[in-house]
Amino acid sequence: MDRPYPALTEDGYYTASFYSFFDIPGAELPELRRSIQDEWSQDLAVVGRIYICEQGINAQLSIPEENTERLRAWLEKSSTFVGRIPRFNWAIEHRRAFKALHVRVRPLVASGDPLDMQMLSREPEYLQPAEWEQELQEAQARDPDTLLVDMRNNYEFRIGRFQNSVCPDVDTFREEMAVVRNMCKDRPKDKPIYMYCTGGIRCSVAGAILKSEGYANVKTLQGGVIAYGRHVRERDQEQPSIFRGKNFTFDKRLGEEVTSDVLAKCDQCGGPCDAFTNCANTSCNLLFIQCAACAAKHHRTCGNAVCIQRAQMSHGELIKNRMGPIWNYHMRVRPEKVFGKDGIARPEALAAKN
Ligand SMILES: [Zn+2]
Ligand SMILES: [Zn+2]
Repeated sequence: MDRPYPALTEDGYYTASFYSFFDIPGAELPELRRSIQDEWSQDLAVVGRIYICEQGINAQLSIPEENTERLRAWLEKSSTFVGRIPRFNWAIEHRRAFKALHVRVRPLVASGDPLDMQMLSREPEYLQPAEWEQELQEAQARDPDTLLVDMRNNYEFRIGRFQNSVCPDVDTFREEMAVVRNMCKDRPKDKPIYMYCTGGIRCSVAGAILKSEGYANVKTLQGGVIAYGRHVRERDQEQPSIFRGKNFTFDKRLGEEVTSDVLAKCDQCGGPCDAFTNCANTSCNLLFIQCAACAAKHHRTCGNAVCIQRAQMSHGELIKNRMGPIWNYHMRVRPEKVFGKDGIARPEALAAKN
């Protein structure tokens, strides 16, 4: 567990993520879940989201500055983590990014299939940010056909990405693997495949799958875009970044800046913008890109009448007028597809009712 850098925080919290693959006996999971949930939230005031399962742990956390050493001490004392303290991937911008701590027994990556430990042990090659940058630029200069895959969701790719990367146009990890296999199938098995994601876990899994299928030369960015963004911040500012725009984060911040380039457009008016927001109607909660003018015009909602009306309701009124989820998963991950030309989102569920 390295020290956070830069040692600056707006509100006294550091934000970090980590993951680690190792066997945890299924019978120990309930007790491990309980001890992390109780001790980290009550004694250490940690907030965030943690998944544990028989294949390891995946965590995104904000930790009060004064408790980072105590968290390390907890991990060092724990019989589960002894000798395998995960490497902390510190954020670029530090602040309290979660409301509470949620620890769940759940697969670490929504891969659709249970992760096989033997397969996961076929790890891809991990490149440090500086090596990644240099090697990738050299490879691309030598061969314009160098494959660089962005393994994140499409909406993350919209606001920031590595130059010359491709992001499979799909909604799930399983579909994504099918596209990547297709991209690789006519290439020599030893030709390098470069891949990156937010914090590294997706590529650890995807890289292991590809290696187990015979691709010998899979290379991934250690610590993902988060680590590369930190690298760019820490070094001489004159050196250009090969990642442009924002790194999307799955917390209240909804993104941290790597460079000031704005790559995306407001989903409602089409103006340049890369600020993700959630619709102010909490039962809609659609995640989409909204500029300040559209936020004012549509009352911080996705624009349909039901959302505008519900965004004004009190908590009591909302409870009285309960409403189920109005977007399915595929619509949620494709916000740009649900808006009409007038900048108003039209969920099918609402269309059916009106
Ligand atoms: Zn707009
Ligand atoms: Zn809405």
